[in-house]
Amino acid sequence: MNQEIEKVECLIIGSGPAGFTAAIYAARADMKPVMYEGLQPGGQLTITTDVENYPGYPDGIEGPMMMDHFKKQAVRLGADIRFGIVTSVDFSQRPFTCVVDEKKTIVAESIIIATGASAKWLGIPSEQKLNGSGVSACAVCDGFFYRGQDVAIVGAGDTACEEASYLAKLCNKVHMIVRRDTFRASKAMQHRVENTPNIEIHFNSETDEILGDTVVEGARLKSTLDGSLKTISVTGFFVAIGHTPNTSIFKPWIHMDEQGYIMTKPGSSYTNIEGVFACGDAQDKIYRQAVTAAGSGCMAALDAERWLSSQHSA
Ligand code: NDP
Repeated sequence: MNQEIEKVECLIIGSGPAGFTAAIYAARADMKPVMYEGLQPGGQLTITTDVENYPGYPDGIEGPMMMDHFKKQAVRLGADIRFGIVTSVDFSQRPFTCVVDEKKTIVAESIIIATGASAKWLGIPSEQKLNGSGVSACAVCDGFFYRGQDVAIVGAGDTACEEASYLAKLCNKVHMIVRRDTFRASKAMQHRVENTPNIEIHFNSETDEILGDTVVEGARLKSTLDGSLKTISVTGFFVAIGHTPNTSIFKPWIHMDEQGYIMTKPGSSYTNIEGVFACGDAQDKIYRQAVTAAGSGCMAALDAERWLSSQHSA
């Protein structure tokens, strides 16, 4: 039952680098942004450890602390950041209607979608136990910590191939674990992996278990052909089996690709619905970095501000 209705000028949905940057810009533009943080306040960076590739932190910073900085900056500038999950939206007419936690209704003149994406995981207990202690879903974020060491990566798509190539430059050896007898990745990416001497590809292999008590020490692979087991010795274990954009509630209204990534008009954050803007990983399956998400959050706030001004002066 909807009990409360509140009108806002700019509603930001999601609280990763994209959402907070949008909040900072929108607050400074006097759009009085209201943000609902969503299921994972702070976004994917709150489940990583050290972030060393975000400019401005010469000594690196822990992901959760960085997101706390983003939040404090947005709050100081006047953004209204709230704990809550937008559970449904109606973009059929303006202003748009969004329901929070299935009870509160927000009526918004403009919307910035910054709901991000979630990495897919294998779903085995050892993966969860060692997450952040050698298990990672982002080679670009965490590969650096395994310089000169042996690592493994699971997956056979473009991301896995790209990340395996990235890791091969840093690490001594990369074991690539592929569940079928073939790749899903484009031919060019496959060839790159196949022609990299320190990548060993284990086809027809599943991860039976990631080994180690407190940190990753190895992995046990199981053949999909005959069930035989073999152990590899690694200190880092990367999972690159795809991401799921957190966009399902927008599906009836917003144009998306077949995987659910929001399609924005090139060079902008405009979606197919006027007044609804998208930024961050919800619309980016290629770069997926905190800094690119932050940049696109800035774009969304600037686009929303210009669009709102054009509406008010019309
Ligand atoms: P994909 O969905 O393309 O590939 C996922 C891979 O993970 C598949 O090989 C799949 O195996 C494997 N996989 C899924 N579940 C499991 C599991 N439980 N155990 C083992 N393996 C598993 O995801 P990507 O992230 O690679 O790519 C997403 C999209 O982004 C694609 O369209 C891709 O082309 C694009 N992309 C483009 C890039 C570029 O152009 N530079 C870079 C990165 C991504 P199987 O093949 O057996 O199903």
